Amino acid sequence: MSARESWIEELLLLVLLAGAGLLLGEQAGQGMLGLLDGLVLYLAWHLWQLYRLMRWLEQGRRKMPPVAFGAWFWIRESVEALRERGRRRKRKYRRVLKGFQQSTNALPDATVVIDNDGVIEWWNQAARATLGLQSPHRGSRIQAHLQDPVFHRYLQRGDYREPLHIPSPVDPGRNLEIRVVPYGKGQRLLQARDITRLNQLETVRRDFVANVSHEMRTPLTVVHGYLETLHDDPDPALRDWQPIFGQMFQQTTRMQGIVEDLLLLSRLESGETPAGQETVDVPRLLEQIREGAVALSAGQAHRITLEAEPGLMLRGNPSELNSAFSNLVFNAVRYTPAGGRITLHWQRTPVGAEFSVSDTGIGIAAEHIPRLTERFYRVDVGRSRQSGGTGLGLAIVKHVLTRHDGELQIESRPGQGSTFRCLFPVSRIATA
Ligand code: ADP
Repeated sequence: MSARESWIEELLLLVLLAGAGLLLGEQAGQGMLGLLDGLVLYLAWHLWQLYRLMRWLEQGRRKMPPVAFGAWFWIRESVEALRERGRRRKRKYRRVLKGFQQSTNALPDATVVIDNDGVIEWWNQAARATLGLQSPHRGSRIQAHLQDPVFHRYLQRGDYREPLHIPSPVDPGRNLEIRVVPYGKGQRLLQARDITRLNQLETVRRDFVANVSHEMRTPLTVVHGYLETLHDDPDPALRDWQPIFGQMFQQTTRMQGIVEDLLLLSRLESGETPAGQETVDVPRLLEQIREGAVALSAGQAHRITLEAEPGLMLRGNPSELNSAFSNLVFNAVRYTPAGGRITLHWQRTPVGAEFSVSDTGIGIAAEHIPRLTERFYRVDVGRSRQSGGTGLGLAIVKHVLTRHDGELQIESRPGQGSTFRCLFPVSRIATA
């Protein structure tokens, strides 16, 4: 029934009661009193319906008491329809929530919902095994459960771009990768993945590369030594063989370079992080590297200049920094045609210190830049080999910088030149 029809019914009831009262009153000679009785009856009916409604609201029963007609009939129907709609919506949300919980429970990674203060609100099945969360932990802080100070600093810092690796609170022999994703109003999703097996595989790979490189080192040195002797031998009987010896000598030199770089990389990977705390006299180190670059340039007339802030030193490992900086400078010489300019800068910046190498060389197309620090990634393999490259230089640079809390930035334009920047934080600066 529509609201209009109910309203008409309501008016009819009023007219009926008032009319009946009036008529009965007239018969008794008290017309007005009869009308009043009719109206009082009408009011009493309304008050009764109002009382029933209030009782129903108070008792919270399932169904509203039935009413046969009038405005109250319409009100009851509408309230029931609203309640049915609400019930349907609730059922739907319950279904969605159940589906969500089932799917997050099926996730192999531990997922925990925490608020801004780290208070645990919810977790999935995997979090029980991976993090050891149990019912009593609901409402407690995740910091009390994961007590690693590194994790506390990570959570507090609020920069979650990189994941964090910590030992598991359940079994310190296992390693976890923690990721935090902020969402909603002050909510955070914490994910923990067991990476023990991945770490083991990584260690196996690292050890394998280190062992192979190490085993190859001695035989290579022997072959290289003999080839050098043969190459220098003035015996006329060997004259025809000299170009072949020369090529073999060149190739073993290259292989020695690769083996040395691989060994250095595995030393960097297995070394303690962060790197040492010695004070490194960077201006002096750079002057030596510049002299090495002039020697490497030999006859190609590169203009190599160095501007270094005197007394600006770094805390770190001198031989690692030497490897990183010389790789960048020697690359600049190798990838800059004769007569080009190479500029080395070592200076303070508002946020720390910066070493940069700019060259006017061949440059690098933008699509290669993100991949340059991968092992054996070269833009032009032929050119790299020809100039004595191993394809490992920039991988070494990246590792050394990471171990010194630094960062590598690369800007380049094909045909115009490149700038490689090593950025170090203030905490790494040491002054003479
Ligand atoms: P490589 O031993 O081949 O030089 P690196 O890891 O040092 O290996 O460098 C990777 C690649 O990056 C190089 O093969 C080269 O293509 C490119 N590259 C590095 N430095 C420069 C530079 N200064 N100018 C142009 N290209 C460069």
